[in-house]
Amino acid sequence: MFEYNLLAKEGRARVGVFKTPHGDLQTPVFAPVGTQASVKTLTPEHLKELGASLVLSNTYHLYLRPGDELVAEMGGLHKFMQWPNPMLTDSGGYQVFSLALTRKIDDDGVTFKSHIDGSTHRFTPEKSIAIQENLGADIIMAFDECSDPNDHAYSLKAMERTHRWAERSLKAHVRADQALFGIVQGGVDPDLRATSAKFIASLPFPGIAIGGLSVGETKDEMHRSLDVVTPLLPENKPRYLMGVGTPEDLINGIARGVDIFDCVLPTRLARHHAAFSSTGRLNLMNATFKRDTRPIDESCDCYTCRTFTRAYLRHLINAKELLAGTLLSIHNLHALIQLVVDIRGLIQTGSFESKVPSLLDQWGNNAQKPTPVRLTD
Ligand SMILES: [Zn+2]
Repeated sequence: MFEYNLLAKEGRARVGVFKTPHGDLQTPVFAPVGTQASVKTLTPEHLKELGASLVLSNTYHLYLRPGDELVAEMGGLHKFMQWPNPMLTDSGGYQVFSLALTRKIDDDGVTFKSHIDGSTHRFTPEKSIAIQENLGADIIMAFDECSDPNDHAYSLKAMERTHRWAERSLKAHVRADQALFGIVQGGVDPDLRATSAKFIASLPFPGIAIGGLSVGETKDEMHRSLDVVTPLLPENKPRYLMGVGTPEDLINGIARGVDIFDCVLPTRLARHHAAFSSTGRLNLMNATFKRDTRPIDESCDCYTCRTFTRAYLRHLINAKELLAGTLLSIHNLHALIQLVVDIRGLIQTGSFESKVPSLLDQWGNNAQKPTPVRLTD
């Protein structure tokens, strides 16, 4: 069921189709994040209009609230949140390590306290798979341990544990209508990354995720890790770079052979009044936009840019109107989804590699932090 067909290749960049029970996924693809079974401020209709094809949701959050068994009782995640297209859930590992109040890791699993009410819970590979089977996404993740990328001893230990947990995740997984992806770890050490890529590639996973990046390492370290990992992965399986998604990360990742991306950044920035643009990141709260009749980005054809001025968006932000978050989320998601669609076209005509420098030049400023808020007018 989970065939990946490669349609075009230019250098290491790929265009392909991954077949899932909820439709074909054209790759490369950027997935918006719906942490709590909701992409914040947007309806499924908005997402369809934006051309979103894959939505990610978080196992840790849904397990704690409303509970994976309740989601299963309501017909699964697709039906519960009314998203008819492909979905992906993470294993919950990353959230347990970063969000839970306290956690204790051993070789069998992780015991943690909920960030909501302090109650004690335990995730093991078997438990993570059982939760993800209840949630019912098309693509699910093996349980893994994400290390501090610069701590070599810990990265080695976490990688070895991740490998054992990958085998246990495979054994525990029974639903044939879900593609279970293995996860490559190894911090920023090229030898560990290579060892992990080879080991995970040797297991019968229909797709492979690259974890433990964009967690505090430098951009160079991320690129070097990808340069080691993707050449060791099989051509006929999709590669998913977890939690990575600034415009320049997408360009650099696709150029290094990544097919699937997700990130909270576009919707999180939107709620902090910031917008991606082809001329650099804008903070729409800035007083300079008070009488600005231009759209956020004159080269963007999203609903927000076709319809509203910067002056109106700034007014909504100042008046604390919720519509601001919706309109900026529409724009930011459109920017990333359209960038990836454009790159897909470039790869198919063999013109992506030559455009990488100009694309990076155009989108590079979006990595900067939002400009300081000025409220002096
Ligand atoms: Zn726009």
